[in-house]
Amino acid sequence: MVRDRRGFIRRTKQREVILSVLQSTDTHPSADWIYEEVRQVLPNISLGTIYRNLRILVDSGEAMELRFGSGASRFDGNPKNHYHFVCLNCDRIYDLELSLQEKLEEQVSEKAGHRVLDHRLEFYGICDVCQSKKNTIDEPRHHDS
Ligand code: ZN
Ligand code: MN
Repeated sequence: MVRDRRGFIRRTKQREVILSVLQSTDTHPSADWIYEEVRQVLPNISLGTIYRNLRILVDSGEAMELRFGSGASRFDGNPKNHYHFVCLNCDRIYDLELSLQEKLEEQVSEKAGHRVLDHRLEFYGICDVCQSKKNTIDEPRHHDS
């Protein structure tokens, strides 16, 4: 991580573009998706540069990396702690605003005496969009020969 003389993390033009692409969507994109979008603005950028800058943004607390199962990491331009619902059918990731966040941490402190700095909670299921197309989930796919 490059810091200037006053100790601030130097923001490159590339990193500015990557962060603004990430903040422009609520789809929690993969690095590949971000790469395709950033290339519209910076055609010569490499996927390696995307990965390196995403790492810096995550490490500096400006973005979040979401790891669900064995799939590719997804990224979130909102670094504030919030919850997610992952659809097992379409892979969409939805933001959840829940009021129990602080209460959960309080319970860990009160019941166990631990000091909580952070916590994660994920929900998995079938999203409302997929439920409305229920037939495509429950019926096995037919292969026409
Ligand atoms: Zn879905
Ligand atoms: Mn989110």
